[in-house]
Amino acid sequence: MELSQRITNITGGGSDGWDVFYKARRMIAEGTDVIELTIGEHDIRTDPIILSAMDTSARGGHTGYAMVPGTQELREAVATRLTERTGVPTTYENILITPGGQSALFAAHLATCSPGTRALFIDPYYATYPGTIRSVGAEPVAIATHAENAFKPRAEDITSEAIKGASSLLINTPNNPTGTIYERDTLQAIAQVCQEQDLWLISDEVYDTQVWEGAHLSPRALPGMAERTLVIGSMSKSHAMTGSRIGWIAAPKEVITHLINLATHTTYGVPGYIQDAAVFALSQGNPLEEEVAAPFRRRRKLASDILAAQSTVGLIPAQGAMYIMLNVRATGLSGEEFANSLLDTHHIATMPGESFGTSAHGHIRVAMTVDDERFKQALQILVDHAEILASHKAS
Ligand code: PMP
Repeated sequence: MELSQRITNITGGGSDGWDVFYKARRMIAEGTDVIELTIGEHDIRTDPIILSAMDTSARGGHTGYAMVPGTQELREAVATRLTERTGVPTTYENILITPGGQSALFAAHLATCSPGTRALFIDPYYATYPGTIRSVGAEPVAIATHAENAFKPRAEDITSEAIKGASSLLINTPNNPTGTIYERDTLQAIAQVCQEQDLWLISDEVYDTQVWEGAHLSPRALPGMAERTLVIGSMSKSHAMTGSRIGWIAAPKEVITHLINLATHTTYGVPGYIQDAAVFALSQGNPLEEEVAAPFRRRRKLASDILAAQSTVGLIPAQGAMYIMLNVRATGLSGEEFANSLLDTHHIATMPGESFGTSAHGHIRVAMTVDDERFKQALQILVDHAEILASHKAS
């Protein structure tokens, strides 16, 4: 029997860059004590007060079908949050509740890209981006960026050649995998390109509560951008609710109406008791978000201190999100070779920069997702390992 080409095409047929990750998982299964600094999952679980709200809702009977676009309460809570934090007047009609940010990314592209059009995204990128774009029948076009510019796109990086036939541009700030935050000038340049070229902007802001330096600015708040921006939000990172699968799209009302038609024929909504738990979690405001973000803030400081004491491994400015991006080019190895060598020699698993496109070659991404002591120890070993490799290269 033949299976659909559309799904076969999602992975693009190439290596997906997760070889080091799978190797680490095999080593763990065989009993090796591997320090995993690979995927973006907190080392804490969802706060019990959120679970209590979930339990109360489910036991109170909210286990039937929920409204397809999301409950009125949650749509309003998200709208209020966005109005307060961005200054852009937002109502529940601008919000669609989705099962997590990933399905929001899929829906946002399906809403904005007709089959055969191009969808732009910034390299290095979150691993699912090109596959998400292919899954809606659009053509993914990566915009290369440069380590010297902390992998932030400049207007001239988004060339007219790339833009030809493009419907959308996807950006992510605070950024996975680089840990950078796009400042106002970067976002203004992006906004200008979108307006001049009539592109939809899909702004992935799932790390908006993890800001260590500067401030998070949503491009939806820039002049003329609210009508062409779809913001991707999620409770996964902000509230350690990865397994609850709860997120949203904030967009112009007509886009949301279009998306509700899609949701009716795909997800048919998100569980009501999860949405009630999300309303409760959002009602806790900043203090709970700060608590969830605090371990990464601490570890980012630990990492900066260790890296400041040496000059072999470079740190891309670590401004936000739960990752740091390290330049290991001084070792003479590719990111993938370095990650393999660190895993084989010291049982520390990181992600090669090459897993996230071509721009971050010679880098590795370190997820700050193990306890402080282990994290500190792992980073020191990583630096020592790089120094030995670099000295071999020099001699
Ligand atoms: N965007 C980015 C940049 C991410 O890193 C992730 C998860 N790692 C997502 C979206 C999707 O997150 P979720 O589906 O859990 O909301």
